Amino acid sequence: ALAAQARTFDGDGRTADGHRVELLANVGDPADAEAAAAAHAQGVGLFRTEFQFLDRDEPPTIDEQVTAYRRVFAAFAGRKVVIRTLDAGADKPMPFLTSDDEANPALGVRGLRTAALHADVLEDQLTAIARAADAESAVVWVMAPMVSTVDEAEDFVARCARHGLGTAGVMVEVPSAALVADRILAHAAFASIGTNDLTQYTMAADRLLGSVAHLSDAWHPAVLRLVAETCRGGAAQGRPVGVCGEAAAVPALAVVLVGLGVTSLSMTPRALADVAAVLGATTSDECARLAQRALAAPTAADARELVRAALPVLAELG
Ligand code: PEP
Ligand code: MG
Repeated sequence: ALAAQARTFDGDGRTADGHRVELLANVGDPADAEAAAAAHAQGVGLFRTEFQFLDRDEPPTIDEQVTAYRRVFAAFAGRKVVIRTLDAGADKPMPFLTSDDEANPALGVRGLRTAALHADVLEDQLTAIARAADAESAVVWVMAPMVSTVDEAEDFVARCARHGLGTAGVMVEVPSAALVADRILAHAAFASIGTNDLTQYTMAADRLLGSVAHLSDAWHPAVLRLVAETCRGGAAQGRPVGVCGEAAAVPALAVVLVGLGVTSLSMTPRALADVAAVLGATTSDECARLAQRALAAPTAADARELVRAALPVLAELG
């Protein structure tokens, strides 16, 4: 029964005991958003806005941006869309914003850090987001990538407020942000954990380099402890904490993330059905118990194996 059921997602994410977990989609352009809505994603947890900035000599105009953002918001009328401001640099180079002569671009001027040098690009983007949000009924949340300090979070939230964007949050993808999440969430309305970069920066392993891929594992208890710390900060401030990195799409890991206190999971729409099926077969107590065991494991492999062994439902996914 589960295998058949696992083919589609009915748009309602819950644990076996009925505890709600928002299951959202990661999208990169309007066509993705339309496909995500058709797959019954409950909203968009990560709208990566880089698509219209890549392979260009200058940023798109405000009007071009408004048109694209409106299409994404329209696909999720009345529902939540978390739109991320431009994440330029490192694996997403943009010549008009980022320099190609940094020795360590992943540790350089990327994400929100580009705003210190080119505030105009972020200002135009926030203008476009605010206009698109005013024109559509989606519940628009805005977040910044690559936040490392409380000051950056505070500045970003204030900047969004000046554009009338009242729900501003941050991605937690740098260990420093995870470790002071309680302070950051005194300013930011929410956090979304980017496990792709959080793993890269925790393990000091380039996410694009095959020779260190064995270290790039979000199951590593060091990464899980930072997720737990972020969730503690969220709970302390009464703020939601989601995950929008690829870890959210791995059913057994999704169980652990929920057990650590994550309130939403955002993923590629094709993963929604399997993640929903495994969560739906696991109680919140079981999620919490498995999360504690994964945190205490010595290695990523131990954490993965002990959790997988405790979830026979995984075998039924096919
Ligand atoms: C992440 O780092 O986990 C994330 C979701 O952002 P991106 O993959 O776009 O860097
Ligand atoms: Mg990232």
